Amino acid sequence: MPYYCPRCGKETVYSEELEGLCEDCFREKYRIPSLNKLDVDIKLCPICGRVKFGNKWVRGNIVNLKHVALSQLKKKKILRGYDVRIDLRNIGDNEPLLSQLLSDNYIVIPAEIYKRDIMIQTVTLEIKINKQVCPTCRKKATGNYYEYVIHVRFTGGKAREKEVKVRNIISRVLSYAKPDVFIDVRKIHRGMDIRVSDRRIGDKLLHRIIDAFNTDARQYSERRFESTLNRYIVVRKATVNI
Ligand SMILES: [Zn+2]
Ligand SMILES: [Zn+2]
Repeated sequence: MPYYCPRCGKETVYSEELEGLCEDCFREKYRIPSLNKLDVDIKLCPICGRVKFGNKWVRGNIVNLKHVALSQLKKKKILRGYDVRIDLRNIGDNEPLLSQLLSDNYIVIPAEIYKRDIMIQTVTLEIKINKQVCPTCRKKATGNYYEYVIHVRFTGGKAREKEVKVRNIISRVLSYAKPDVFIDVRKIHRGMDIRVSDRRIGDKLLHRIIDAFNTDARQYSERRFESTLNRYIVVRKATVNI
């Protein structure tokens, strides 16, 4: 017995999923006429490129951007009962995408609206960017997030000269570090306390100072609870007499 779509009369295969309709009529029934554009707002840290996902800041790669966008779309009333699908290939590659987002503050990509695995319509999805410095970068910038501490102590004379030399070494090391690396320098009596947000860069800096002054360092480690990461981190500490 052939089966005919009760709406348009076309011969079709009966499917409960499609409420007995042919695919075209099902699509027609559930099309959202007022919908041709969707937008989401994403908070992106301009320093480290992380994006805000719920209460967390996650790496700003394509997969995470997609998760953030889809989780926001899920909350839209107009899409209740529908699924939105984004093809990752439409978004591009990680690096160019991030720099485009940071310079244009938005990207536009196609998205597909589905109901019960039937593609109902395509829409334009605009991902808008709100630049916001993430809590970790904010802490790093103020010297309150650090993975490495170098206590430089001046022994003997020429303290001013030594300080200038150390500051020059710091500038050189910073010049090739990533933009989310911060070095906080506090001048104290007969010395400098240097906090570095990145352990690898801290280690490099320590060795540059040791080499430049032909000395060595007393080193130790400490565990410190880092609230923005919600975990303990190891902080390396070193004292250098120059
Ligand atoms: Zn039909
Ligand atoms: Zn950041």
